[in-house]
Amino acid sequence: MQDLKVLSPEELKGLDEPRISPSQNQSEYSKKIYLESYGCQMNFADSEVVTSILMEQGYATTSNIHEADTILLNTCAIRENAEQKIRHRLQSFKPIKAKNPHITIGILGCMAERLKTQLLEEEKIVDLVAGPDAYRDLPRLLEEVEDGNKAVNVFLSREETYGNIEPVRMHTNGVTALVSIMRGCNNMCSFCVVPYTRGRERSRDLDSILKECTQLFESGYREVTLLGQNVDSYHWQNPETKQSINFAQLLEKVAQLTPELRVRFSTSHPKDITNEVLHTMAKYENICKNIHLPAQSGNNRILDLMNRTYTREWYLERIQSIRNILGESCGISHDLIAGFCSETEEEHQDSLSLLEEVKYDFGYMFSYSERPGTPAEKKLSDDIPEDVKKRRLQEIIDLQRIHSSYRNQLMIGSVQRVLVEGDSKKSSAHHFGRTDNNKVVVFPKKEEMKGEFVDVFITHCTSGTLLGELIN
Ligand code: SAM
Ligand code: SF4
Repeated sequence: MQDLKVLSPEELKGLDEPRISPSQNQSEYSKKIYLESYGCQMNFADSEVVTSILMEQGYATTSNIHEADTILLNTCAIRENAEQKIRHRLQSFKPIKAKNPHITIGILGCMAERLKTQLLEEEKIVDLVAGPDAYRDLPRLLEEVEDGNKAVNVFLSREETYGNIEPVRMHTNGVTALVSIMRGCNNMCSFCVVPYTRGRERSRDLDSILKECTQLFESGYREVTLLGQNVDSYHWQNPETKQSINFAQLLEKVAQLTPELRVRFSTSHPKDITNEVLHTMAKYENICKNIHLPAQSGNNRILDLMNRTYTREWYLERIQSIRNILGESCGISHDLIAGFCSETEEEHQDSLSLLEEVKYDFGYMFSYSERPGTPAEKKLSDDIPEDVKKRRLQEIIDLQRIHSSYRNQLMIGSVQRVLVEGDSKKSSAHHFGRTDNNKVVVFPKKEEMKGEFVDVFITHCTSGTLLGELIN
């Protein structure tokens, strides 16, 4: 059986490569923005909002950095190496700025929010700093820079959801789209910088979510992923009727728009995912049977230090409920952190035994990176040596790869409904798409089928991909 190379956590999460916005709205007179996006899906969704706001004001985007009037980096702060990458990227802009001193360089997103004006002091090349809730202010901030000033807005809002902004779809395959349903996070996981960089949790209004999903379907999209740091705590109250909507109800309403639109969501928190959500998933064929349920650790003492507010037993009960309600074939993925403060070898073994018990389809795995200002940084010691963290992470990755292969092999011989997303990366003679439980399937192309649902007979697999034949 052919196997995949061991991917680094960043490669696994697709974080190693930034996304560069394509050229849009080009006109001779428009000022051109070059936008690079790093980090999570929320950031990529935010970049679509940023592009929309700027295009509304007459800006164009370009994928050619050398013709840009403004370079924007939408950044991530979740681990130290994510920030290091941005600092290196800024260094590479020096020749461009030397050649064109009028070019504006701006930092958006979580790193901007975390470092605020400190970023301007440390990185002299930066002219503009805007946090995740300040994107409506970008046109004004850009004008301020044009007037010869440095511009900063890192105000965190309790209301901003960008609900009324129609994102400009970029890097789109025209088939799948991200739809942000909430922002911020009220959990205080001790390792995590998100509550400080993205602020308090707020839910987007139902009508604007349904409108966006409907428009996407009408423009040919066939799958939406509802995004939030903790989607299960989605809560929106209609200001007129006072009727409250929770996540299960939102999911149902999106699923009811049309059976031809697939619905996914991410991320679920083990303390919040309810049986109501699981039953709603079971009720609608177009809600994909796949759940991303970060564990972070398999040991109760570490989970407590992480302030995850659940135990290993609670987590496993949630997994059991998923299996009971949605069946063995429901895809389950996880996030796991290796080498958190004071983690012993036995406690690390508990994470490995959690993997053994669940046999996840997929995982995003990281070694612990201390983040300034978080409760863990203030109260705990980052005392696991880097080489030990690295070794533990590798053990976790190796075991996960065995389980990914195992889960994929279980699908050999089955017929899977696949939404075709486009040509396989390796060959234009093959299509690629995803199964309901989120597995990538590659199969020989007979005719152009992008955006169609097809049935594929699964013949073999690697640990990352299913291979098959079209049967209809
Ligand atoms: N809200 C989601 C949740 O609760 O699981 C995920 C948010 S975070 C953007 C994605 C993942 O990054 C986390 O699940 C965690 O595994 C990892 N992560 C967050 N902070 C980290 C840190 N300081 N060091 C290493 N990994 C971290
Ligand atoms: Fe971070 Fe925890 Fe919130 Fe996820 S739930 S974003 S890990 S604080």
